[in-house]
Amino acid sequence: MEEIRVRIAPSPSGNLHVGTARTALFNYLFAKKNNGKFVLRIEDTDAERTSQAYIDNIFDSLKALGLNWDEGPDVGGPYGPYTQSERFDIYPKYVQELLDKGFAYECFCTPEELEAEKEEATKNKQAYVYSKKCENLTEAEKEKLRAEGRKPAIRFSVSKAQKAFHDSPIIHFEDLVKGDLHQDTSLIGDFVIMKSNGAPTYNFAVVIDDMLMKISHIIRGEDHISNTFKQILIYEALGAEVPKFGHLGMILAPDRSKLSKRHGATAVSEFVEKGYLTEALINFVALLGWSPSDSNEIKSLEEIAQDFRIHEVSSSNSIFEYDKLNWMNGQYIKKMDIKSLTKLAKPFLAKYDLSELTEEQLEKVIAATREPITVLSDLTNDVAYFFGKDIVYEDGVKEANIDTEQAQTILKYFDSQLDSYDFDNEEKLHEQLAEFRTYFKEQGIKPKVTMWTVRAALTGRTHGADMGVILEVLGKDKVKYRIEKAIV
Ligand code: GLU
Repeated sequence: MEEIRVRIAPSPSGNLHVGTARTALFNYLFAKKNNGKFVLRIEDTDAERTSQAYIDNIFDSLKALGLNWDEGPDVGGPYGPYTQSERFDIYPKYVQELLDKGFAYECFCTPEELEAEKEEATKNKQAYVYSKKCENLTEAEKEKLRAEGRKPAIRFSVSKAQKAFHDSPIIHFEDLVKGDLHQDTSLIGDFVIMKSNGAPTYNFAVVIDDMLMKISHIIRGEDHISNTFKQILIYEALGAEVPKFGHLGMILAPDRSKLSKRHGATAVSEFVEKGYLTEALINFVALLGWSPSDSNEIKSLEEIAQDFRIHEVSSSNSIFEYDKLNWMNGQYIKKMDIKSLTKLAKPFLAKYDLSELTEEQLEKVIAATREPITVLSDLTNDVAYFFGKDIVYEDGVKEANIDTEQAQTILKYFDSQLDSYDFDNEEKLHEQLAEFRTYFKEQGIKPKVTMWTVRAALTGRTHGADMGVILEVLGKDKVKYRIEKAIV
């Protein structure tokens, strides 16, 4: 069997979008499942929209997600270069082949002439299709236009290719995800394959590259279906084998519109900056169109690769449920080993003086605060009271939990006990706290209330980390300082 070769071919006109990450993932999974190769190609023919920063972002994001490519920029491979702007000298040969075979022709139309054609079509309420005005120019006519200083673009003759390779103008292909797809080629205008400045267009360069890179399966978003019919005709015109295609449904926002910035983050790096774990993100993204064979949705990339089958991918659109991603991220945060989590948490704690704590204490703090959070950026606020000398009370906490007579009694007693507490012995400290609670319980004060008071004085809040951890990490001096500050 021929080797399975797939590719992701992002255009670097923005940071890596989660939609592109999903396409990359499904290609990667298909390659893994079939012992194939996953190729990365950068499609930067649109120089104006391309930037090196976006290219770097694409590389970094794919790597962070674990989607390492077998061939492509950085790692090389036998069919490089893998960046289209470095391949410009490859394309003219194939343009010439199509011209020689009569499947392409020079078009001298100016933008104004084309615009006029389009306006005419709009006026007549017709879909615009290029008039083919230049298809049958004589050599003399072409010479004359050249002499006027016009530089031709090259167009592909859709009708000639269709007639040469298909009985009907309606052509079909069997999509790996969507089944039979067809298109009436008489509605496809003769499209430009090379601009007058010599730059290849997307539909042409993509075919040449996929052909030369021996791509066997093209898995991409369904927004490319209309391009696929054009591309099939180019393969055929070149006498090349047509690869298999699989088109994925779109990813929509919860309101079923196109996922965009107004819904939240859309680029992988934005999610990471907000505190999503790449393991959670890739797991979530896999579920946009794919479902595991068992009921457990939490799966590592390796587990997903084992279970993935392209023909089981849903052909309909998927909804990007931010709430579900939050839940899933929370699950990963809860499960992650504490050293790795602490390392990932540090950028979110930049406003604090981390030298106040030992690494071990910081790990304790993270372990004690990770439970309810959904994104790492929640930690910024949740660990605030472990740093600095003073605390900031949350609204209403001081009035309800510190300023009352009962609270003051609790705090004074707690203060009187502090010297006897063993701050270096976690177990002992817990015992001592239990005794302290019992003391008030015997006077009819609920243990919960007693602890809220102490917690409020130490943290400014009524919820947070385990009290034992708070006391231990703050240490006797800080605890004493905060308690005494709360006593009026
Ligand atoms: N550069 C194209 C894009 O980013 C690739 C499309 C394809 O996979 O052929 O949409």
